[in-house]
Amino acid sequence: MTIAANLGYPRIGPRRELKRALEAYWAGRIDTDGLQREAAALRRQAWALQQGSGISHVPSGDFALYDHVLETACAFGAIPAGYGWKGEGPVSLLTLFALARGAWGTAEEPRTGIDPAAQPLEMTKWFDTNYHYLVPRLSSEMRFALHDNPWRRMFEEALRHGCRTRPVVLGPVSFLLLAKGEDGANPLALLPALLPAYGQLLRELGDASAGWVQMDEPCLATDLPAGAAEAYATAYHALAAAAPGLDLLLATYFGGLRENLALSASLPVAGLHLDLVRDPGQLDVALGLLREEQWLSLGLVNGRNVWRTDLRAALALARRATARPGGARRLMLAPSCSLLHVPHSLREETALDPSLRRRLAFADEKLAEVALLARALDEGEAVAAAALTASDAILAEQPPAATPPIITPEMEQRPSPFPVRAAVQQAKFRLPPLPVTTIGSLPQTAEVRAARAEALRGNSDPAAYEAQMRDLIADSIAWQDAIGVDVPVHGEFERNDMVKYFAEQLEGYAITKHGWVQSYGSRCVSPPILWGDVRRPKPMTVRWSSHAQSLTRRPVKGMLTGPVTMLQWAFVREDIPRKAACRQIALALREEVADLQAAGIGIIQIDEPAFREGLPLRRSERADYLRWATACFRLTAGAAGDATQIHTHMCYSEFEDILDAIAAMDADVISIETARSRMELLRAFTEFAYPNAIGPGVWDIHSPRVPQVSEMVTLARSALACLPAERLWLNPDCGCKTRNWAEVRPAVVNLVQAARTLRAEL
Ligand code: GLN
Ligand code: ZN
Repeated sequence: MTIAANLGYPRIGPRRELKRALEAYWAGRIDTDGLQREAAALRRQAWALQQGSGISHVPSGDFALYDHVLETACAFGAIPAGYGWKGEGPVSLLTLFALARGAWGTAEEPRTGIDPAAQPLEMTKWFDTNYHYLVPRLSSEMRFALHDNPWRRMFEEALRHGCRTRPVVLGPVSFLLLAKGEDGANPLALLPALLPAYGQLLRELGDASAGWVQMDEPCLATDLPAGAAEAYATAYHALAAAAPGLDLLLATYFGGLRENLALSASLPVAGLHLDLVRDPGQLDVALGLLREEQWLSLGLVNGRNVWRTDLRAALALARRATARPGGARRLMLAPSCSLLHVPHSLREETALDPSLRRRLAFADEKLAEVALLARALDEGEAVAAAALTASDAILAEQPPAATPPIITPEMEQRPSPFPVRAAVQQAKFRLPPLPVTTIGSLPQTAEVRAARAEALRGNSDPAAYEAQMRDLIADSIAWQDAIGVDVPVHGEFERNDMVKYFAEQLEGYAITKHGWVQSYGSRCVSPPILWGDVRRPKPMTVRWSSHAQSLTRRPVKGMLTGPVTMLQWAFVREDIPRKAACRQIALALREEVADLQAAGIGIIQIDEPAFREGLPLRRSERADYLRWATACFRLTAGAAGDATQIHTHMCYSEFEDILDAIAAMDADVISIETARSRMELLRAFTEFAYPNAIGPGVWDIHSPRVPQVSEMVTLARSALACLPAERLWLNPDCGCKTRNWAEVRPAVVNLVQAARTLRAEL
C-alpha cells in the first residue's frame, strides 16, 4: 500500500499560539511549565489533525520551541562557552534562549552562568527560504554526546496520544555543513566525533520502538563542498550499523539531487525522498538507481507555495514510479518538503476572492491532497474522480497572463553614467561630505500601531487617520531638521510592513488574514499572494512624501520597496516565469518613481533587502537570476532623470559573490549593514572597486544600545580608509521601526555629531 507521508508541519499554530506563548514567557508572564504546556498542546493538535487527514507517516520532532537546528545543537552539546550550560545534561531554556537571543533573564530563572555580554548565535536563511536558522558554532574541543533526546521524548509523547509517528532528525552531514567552525575548524572534520552521538540517538529511538526515522539531508540538493560526498558515505554506513532495526528515510528537498543522486541512492538507507516539484526530471534517473528493496518517497505537493496541486499530473508522475520492479509496494507520497514554509489552513481565509481561494492549498489542504493521491494510486482513479475533475476545472480557470509589455534597453538605463549624475545631483542638493540619513522607518510605537489597527478595523474616520499620520510625519521632519539630518525621511508610519503596504495597493496581489509563516523564533510573516497581473491603479506613496517635503528645505528621501523584494517576499503565481512577474512589478514601481520625481521628490530609495536571498541554491543558475533581478531594479530606477538620486538598501552581509550585480544595479547610493562586522564588508566593495556611493551602517539597529559618537567616528574612519569622502554616507544599518524613540533620538543626534566631527578633519 502506498504510504501518505508528511515531512514536517507548521509549528507556530493556526493563531500564532507559539508566538504568543514564547513572548509571554520571555516577558515573565508565564513560566516554563506554561510554555511547555502550550507547546505540547500545539503538537498534540498537529498530530491529531495530520492523522485525521489520512497521513500515515506523521512527523514528530519537527517541532522546535525556537529553531530545529539550534535544538539539534543543544541535544548534542554543541554549545559554546558563556551560555550557562554545564557540559552535561539537558540544556535549560535559559541557555537555549540565550543562544537564540543573547543574554537575558526571567523572574523565575535567574541569569546564573550566562555571560551578560553573550551574543546570540548568528542567524541565517535556511536554504532559499525565508525561514532563518541559528548557525551552530562548533570547535574541535567540543565533546559531542547525546545530552538530551527530544526526538525520543516527542515520539513517546505522540504514542501516548495514540499516534505512532516518524521522528524527523536533521542529518549529521547537513548539520555540520550548516554550522560554522570556530578557530578556522572545518565542521566536516568533526563528523567522527559527532557520529557516536547520532548513533546513540537512533539506538534510543529503536528502543522506543520507532520504525521509520526521517533523516533530513537538504544539503544533498546543493553543490557539495570538498569532502562532503565521503562524509555522507561514512555517516550513513555508521548510522545504518548503529541502528539496524530502524528504517532510515533520507529526505532531500529544495531542489534536484543531480550529480548527488547516485551518491544518495547508494547510501545504506531504507528509503529516499525526492523533491519532484523542483525537479520532476530526477524521478526517472532515481528509478534506474534505487535498489529493489528501497522505498521511494515522492515529493509531489509543493511545500513552498500556496497553490493547489495539479492532481492529474501528480498522479501520472506517481504511476511512473510504480513501474519499477517492486515499486508499487515501496512507495510513499508526500509534500516536496516540510510544510513549515506555508501557512496552516485556508479554513478561515473567508475574505479572499473566491476565484483565488479555490486555487489555493495551505498546509492542511496539502495534506488532504497527499492522502487523496495515495488512495487514487492504490484504489484506482475512480475513488478520486470528483477531486480530479475539480482540480482540472480549477486549473483551467486560470486567466491568461497579460501580454508582456515591450521594454526597450533605454528603459533599463539612467540617462547618464554615475559620475555625470553625481555632479548634477551635487550641484542640485549641495550636500556636505558624509551626508547623514536614515534607512526609512522611524519607531513604530504602540500608538502608531494602534492607530493603524483601528483604521484597518474601520473604527476610525479615514480623514482622522490621515491627519494623525500627517502629524507624525510633521513631528518627525521637524525633529530631523532641528538636529541636522541632511536627508530626512518621512518615517513610514503608515506602513504595516514594507511589502504588504504596497501589495495592498497594487492590483494582482491578495492579502490573507491568518496566512502566517515562521520567519525565526517567534517572528512570523504573512506573505501576500501574487496571483494576477500587477498594475498600479494610483500613486501609493506620493502624498506622504510630498507632505514631508513641503515641511522642509532639505531633500526628503522617498521610500519604495523594490521589485525583487516585492517578488521574493510573496507567494508567487506559477503560470508565468518569476522573471516575468518581477518585470510587471518593476513597471508598476517605475510609475511610482516617475510620480515621486514629478512631485518634487529628488531622492528616492528603492529597498532591496531580499535581493540576495533570491539567489538560486545551485551556482549554475545564479547568473541568470542576477541578470533579470538587476534588470528589474534598473527598470524601476530607470524612470529617474540624472538629477534624481536613486538609493537602494540591502541589509545582509554576504555580497562578496554578487558585487558585479550590485554594481550593475547602478544605484547612486547603496546603504548596507556593516556595524556588526566592523566594516568587514566594505573592504569587499573596495577591493572590487565599487564605483558608486555607499552608506555603510555605523549603528547596529538590531541592538537596543545607543552607539556613542566616538564608536561611530571610529567605524566611519575605517570606512574612509576604503572610500573617498565624496562617495561615503553616514547612516544606520537598517530601518529604526523596531527601536523606540528613547533609543533612536540620542542615536541619530550622535550620528549627526559623528559626521560633524569627521567633516572637521577633512
Ligand atoms: N526602508 C525600510 C525601513 O527602514 C527598509 C527595511 C529593510 O531593509 N528590511 O524599514
Ligand atoms: Zn534593512
